[in-house]
Amino acid sequence: ADDLVRSVHRVLTHADGARRLDVRTNADTPEDSARARRFGARGIGLCRTEHMFLGDRRQLVEKLILAETDEDKQAALDALAPLQEQDFLEIFEAMDGLPVTVRLLDPPLHEFLPDLTDLSVRVAVAEAQGHPDEANLRLLAAVRRLHEQNPMLGLRGVRLGLVVKGLFAMQVRAIAQAACARKRAGGDPRPEIMIPLVGAVQELEAIREESEQVLAAVFAECGVELDVLIGTMIEVPRAALTAAEIAHSAEFFSFGTNDLTQMTWGFSRDDVEAAFFHAYLDKGIFGVSPFESLDRPGVGRLVEVATEEGRSARPDLKLGVCGEHGGDPDSVHFFHEVGLDYVSCSPFRVPVARLEAGRAALGTDLSGS
Ligand code: PEP
Ligand code: MG
Repeated sequence: ADDLVRSVHRVLTHADGARRLDVRTNADTPEDSARARRFGARGIGLCRTEHMFLGDRRQLVEKLILAETDEDKQAALDALAPLQEQDFLEIFEAMDGLPVTVRLLDPPLHEFLPDLTDLSVRVAVAEAQGHPDEANLRLLAAVRRLHEQNPMLGLRGVRLGLVVKGLFAMQVRAIAQAACARKRAGGDPRPEIMIPLVGAVQELEAIREESEQVLAAVFAECGVELDVLIGTMIEVPRAALTAAEIAHSAEFFSFGTNDLTQMTWGFSRDDVEAAFFHAYLDKGIFGVSPFESLDRPGVGRLVEVATEEGRSARPDLKLGVCGEHGGDPDSVHFFHEVGLDYVSCSPFRVPVARLEAGRAALGTDLSGS
C-alpha cells in the first residue's frame, strides 16, 4: 500500500510540474480546508457562507430578514458579526499563505423563512380558539410578502445583498477583521471577496463600493495593509454576455457552472431527476447530465465568450471555475483549453483535478500515448 501511495504521489507531482491550471478547493470549514490542503489544493476557490448560517444562527438571519425596525435589524447583524469573524479566522488559519475566496451570502431565501404552511396553521388555530395571535399574524403577512414560487431564481445572492441593507457589509467587515487578527498574529491571510449571482455590472458596482469602504475603514483602524481582490461569479447567462462591462468592476471571475447550466438550459438544478431528463438521455440530446459533464457547445460557449470579453477589457483578470465541473475530468481539460487560471472543486476531487490538469497540459491519455 505504501508503494501505491508513493506512486500516486509521484504521478501527481509530475502532473503538478506540467499543469498550467491551479487547483483550489470548495470548502467552508477549517476541517475541509485542511483536508483539501493535504490533497494538494492551493487555496479556496469557493467558500460558501450560507452553511455558516444554519443551525442556531438561522434564527438570527430570519430576524434580520424579517426585522420591522432598524434596531431589530442592527441587533441581528451585531449578533452575527463576531460569529462570522471567528468562522473566517479559522479558515484563514487553515489556508494560511493561500488565497481564500469568500463568497457573500447566497441562499435560496426560503431556507431562512418560517414555513408558510406551519405558520398559517398556527394563526388559523389561534383564531379558531378565539384569541388571535397578533405577533404571528404580522409575521405571516411578512412571510407572505417574501414568499417565492421559485426561490432559486428569486431573492438570492447579490439581490439579497442589495435588498437587506447591512448584510454584505457585515460579512465584509468580518472578513477584514479576521484578516487583521490573523496578520497581527504573524499569519499571512489572503482573502478575496466574491459576489454571487451578478447579472449586471451595476449590481457589482454597488456592492463593490460598499465593500471597499468597509475594507478601508477596518484596515485603517487596525493599521494593516492588505490588498483584497473583489470579483464576481459568472453564473447568470447575462453576466457572461456582458462580461466586458462586468470586468471593469471585477478583479476576477469565477464561473458558477451549476447555476450557469441551470439557467442556460432552463432546467432546475434541484430537479435533475425529472422524467424528461431520461428521455433526453435516451434520445442522445446529451450523453450524460450537463450538470455532471460540461455542455461544451452551450454552457462552455458562454465560458469562452466571457473569458474572451473579460480578458479583452481587463488583461490581468483572474479566471476560475467553482461549479461542480471544476472537478470533472473532461471539463478540466476544457477549462485548460479555454485558458482559465484555476479550477476549484470539493476536497476529495482535488487529486483528480491535479492529475487531469497535468494530463491536459501534457496532452497525454491514460493509455500512455
Ligand atoms: C454554481 O452555481 O456553480 C456555484 C458554484 O454556486 P452554488 O452551487 O453555491 O450555487
Ligand atoms: Mg451558484
